[in-house]
Amino acid sequence: MNIATQAAQIGLEWDTRTGAVTVPIYQTATFRHPGLGQSTGYDYSRSGNPTRQALEEGIARLDGGARGFAYASGMAAITNLLYLFGRGDHLVVTEDLYGGTCRLFDQLFSQFGLTFSYVDTSDLAAVREAIRPETKALFVESLTNPLLKVADIAALSDLCREKGVLHIVDNTFLTPYLLRPLDLGADITVYSATKYLAGHNDTVAGLAVVKDPQLAERVYFHQNSVGAVLGPQDSWLTIRGMKTLSVRLDRQQENAARIAAWLATHPQVRRIYYPGLPEHPGHALLARQARGFGAMVSFEVTERALVERLLLKTQVLSFAESLGGVETLITFPEGQTHADIPVEVRRRLGINEVLLRLSVGIEDAQDLIDDLDQAFKA
Ligand SMILES: *Cc1c(COP(=O)(O)O)cnc(C)c1O
Repeated sequence: MNIATQAAQIGLEWDTRTGAVTVPIYQTATFRHPGLGQSTGYDYSRSGNPTRQALEEGIARLDGGARGFAYASGMAAITNLLYLFGRGDHLVVTEDLYGGTCRLFDQLFSQFGLTFSYVDTSDLAAVREAIRPETKALFVESLTNPLLKVADIAALSDLCREKGVLHIVDNTFLTPYLLRPLDLGADITVYSATKYLAGHNDTVAGLAVVKDPQLAERVYFHQNSVGAVLGPQDSWLTIRGMKTLSVRLDRQQENAARIAAWLATHPQVRRIYYPGLPEHPGHALLARQARGFGAMVSFEVTERALVERLLLKTQVLSFAESLGGVETLITFPEGQTHADIPVEVRRRLGINEVLLRLSVGIEDAQDLIDDLDQAFKA
C-alpha cells in the first residue's frame, strides 16, 4: 500500500469495540490485570500504552521495519539507540550533523568511553577510510542540516554490511514518504518527529524503527529500562500530524522549489543549497533514491546586514528554530541551531555568518516570496 494511504489510516482499526476512527488517547499509567499471572497485554504505560503502540506500529509500517519506538523527543530516540554501544566502541558520523546530536555525542556519550569520527558521509571513500576495527556503527543524516548534503544510503549500507557495522539513518528531513532507508539496506531509522512527521510545530517527539526483530528486542529493552517514552497525548498528536504527511510534504516541496528558483536569481543571494536544483551536488543521487527533494532551502546573502533584515523584517515567515511544520520558518544556523558545533568545524563545512535556512511551510508560495522580497528591500 502507498505510504500516503498507510499514513492516513494509522490507528484506524484500533478500537474494534466502538469502531472509533481515530485511536483513543489512553491516558492511563497502569492497567488492571484480569487474573493472577494474567495481563491484557498492557501492564504499565512505560512498558506499553495503546496510543503509543498505534504510533509505533504506524511508523514501523511506513518504514518497513520489524518494530517502531516512540520517545519523548528526537534526542531521546537517538540517546536510546546509543545504549546499543559501550566503552571502547567507535561510531562514524555525518560531519554537518544536527547540533544537538553533536552535543550529545561529544559532550555526553564521550564521557562513557564512546568515540566518534566526523566525516562527509556524501563521500563514500571517506567513510570507508574512517571505519576502524572497533567501529560499531555508521550514523548518517539522509539529508544534512543545514547544507543539505545527500548520503548514498544503499552504497553506505553495502559498506556497513561488508564491515559488519550497524547503519543508522536520521531520516528527519525526508521522512518515509520521500525516502525509506530500510528498503535500501539500513538497519535503523531515527526521527525527530517534532519536524515533518508531527508537522505542526506543536509537539516534541522522537521515533525509531528497527528492521531486525532481534535487534528490535534489545532496543525495546532499552526503551523500557530508560523510560524516555512519548506520552499518550503527544503520541496522539503525532499520529494526527502523520495522517496528512503526504499532502503537507507535496505542498511544502512545491513551495520550496518555487522559492529556491526565485532566490537562485536574486542579486543579493550569492549561494543556494537546495537539492532540487540540478547544480546541487546531491541532485542526481537524491532523484534516484528518494521521491522528492524535501522542503529545506539554505542560502547565503551577499552581506551580513541582510541577515538581520531577513530574520526580523519578514512578517509571513517566522524567525524561529525547528523545521518541518506547516508554518514557514527562517533561522540563522551560525548563531542558533549550530552554535554548539566548534567554530573551525562550522567554517570548514560552510556554515558562516551570511547563511540562512528556510523550512518552507504550506502557505501560498507567492505570499512567501513577496514577504522575502519586501524584507530584502526593507
Ligand atoms: C530536531 C532534530 C533532532 C532532534 O530532535 P528533537 O525532537 O528536537 O529532540 C535530531 N535530528 C535532526 C536531523 C533534527 O532536525
